[in-house]
Amino acid sequence: MDIKKSVVLREGIEIEISRKKMKNLRLTIYPPEGKVKLSVPYRIDPEIVDQFILSKMAWIKGKRRKYENRVIGEPKKYKTGEIHPLLGSDYQLTVVETNGKQRIEIKDDNVILMFVRPDSSIENRYKLMMEFQRIALKEILPTFIDKWGVLLAVKVSEFNVKKMKTKWGTCNIAKKRIWINLELVKYPVECIEYIVVHEMIHLLERYHNKRFYKLMDDFYPGWKDVKKRLAAHGISNENNN
Ligand SMILES: [Zn+2]
Repeated sequence: MDIKKSVVLREGIEIEISRKKMKNLRLTIYPPEGKVKLSVPYRIDPEIVDQFILSKMAWIKGKRRKYENRVIGEPKKYKTGEIHPLLGSDYQLTVVETNGKQRIEIKDDNVILMFVRPDSSIENRYKLMMEFQRIALKEILPTFIDKWGVLLAVKVSEFNVKKMKTKWGTCNIAKKRIWINLELVKYPVECIEYIVVHEMIHLLERYHNKRFYKLMDDFYPGWKDVKKRLAAHGISNENNN
């Protein structure tokens, strides 16, 4: 199909316009950043396209604000008293000054102890937290990968945890490699398991087709409820993975 793309800037917002063989204009805002794409049939006049965009600006802005709030939320400062979700529970951060090794430890009563230098920067604390979360998520993944490897009779040769903006997970079918979004560490284990199952089912079926969802239904019947909990975050796995 012949597609012509261009980008226009309206009120500081980039709008990607694709000319396609289609019947009606289609405007879509994509999470998580609120990217705006407009598909336009060839026959429609550029002036009409401009008018259409103008008439939709309020809607576009509203949608983008919604995504912004969801994804970014309150920026963390890594100070004592701050709440950090971990595996579906809220933990309260306690910052402890140390000249020893900088590290994070979990205490009973849902407390995260962060040992840092007295003058440590937010970036330093952020990095420490990311590393802690990465290890925490990497630790629990093998349980699910092993369990579902047996149940689905598939083999994952490599897995890793990545920071991803638009997907909860990805599966490289040829290499039998799955990547899981670091963000998932904040969610209950059933959410993490659901994404692992989703990606591993791709080893049986590449596409999000009927067969794919039949496999999901058969092997992980509650997946739709789990998906809803994740959907509130604005990231989906249905985009292209
Ligand atoms: Zn998928």
